[in-house]
Amino acid sequence: MSVLKIKDVSKIFPNGTTAVDSFSLDVADGELVCLLGPSGSGKSTLLRMVGGFETPTSGLMTIDGEDITRVPPEKRPTGMVFQSHALWTHMNVFKNLAFGLKLRKVPADEIKRRVEGVLELVGLGGYGTRSVTQLSGGQQQRVALARSLVLEPKILLLDEPFASLDQHLRERLREEVRDIQQRLKITTLFVTHGQDEALSMADRIVVMRDGKTEQIDRPDVVYREPQTPFVAGFIGTMN
Ligand code: ADP
Ligand code: MG
Repeated sequence: MSVLKIKDVSKIFPNGTTAVDSFSLDVADGELVCLLGPSGSGKSTLLRMVGGFETPTSGLMTIDGEDITRVPPEKRPTGMVFQSHALWTHMNVFKNLAFGLKLRKVPADEIKRRVEGVLELVGLGGYGTRSVTQLSGGQQQRVALARSLVLEPKILLLDEPFASLDQHLRERLREEVRDIQQRLKITTLFVTHGQDEALSMADRIVVMRDGKTEQIDRPDVVYREPQTPFVAGFIGTMN
């Protein structure tokens, strides 16, 4: 069953740029779909529309059959991790995670239970009282992920979450995120311009260019039969 439906969604910015062009996609329950494409292909704009941070010029988006096209971000069952994670540096780790739950009037004992559970999940058990400024880049990115997960979103949206980290850490976090995603069975859209990231993580890959889909397939099919220079060129460099 598809949880998220994106139907003929376009985004034309006031300056006339068409960032997303009649894009459609159905994402199944528990699926991890990678949006892969070069810089400027419309990945972030698309993800921001699903998260409610941009309004589509036209088209329709539904989650579990409910129209969310014009619902504000805080009322959507989505959680987004941005490229620059923007943690609140004046709050400790616990408070960074608790903030959104307090806004939603979740009782204090449940906040504690959920925050501690999610910190364990991302490998930061016992880090609640630490200042986020004392954490490494990788740990901060785990806090950003935890901050989204603690809201228990139906759909997790990740926009190049590891872009600022070194290759080794990127590969480790990739595996961790995939592991957490599968354990929680959380439906996920993952934006990346890294072909290796998409090929190693995704259930399905959408290769984008100019706001449109160039290819949509399972990673093994994209690997064997790449339909785009963006992927074919990369695979060429691997062999
Ligand atoms: P990607 O994430 O794939 O790099 P983006 O979605 O950020 O692509 O951008 C897609 C296109 O839309 C690019 O041409 C970009 O310059 C343009 N764009 C993005 N945001 C805006 C904006 N706020 N106003 C005008 N053009 C924008
Ligand atoms: Mg982007």
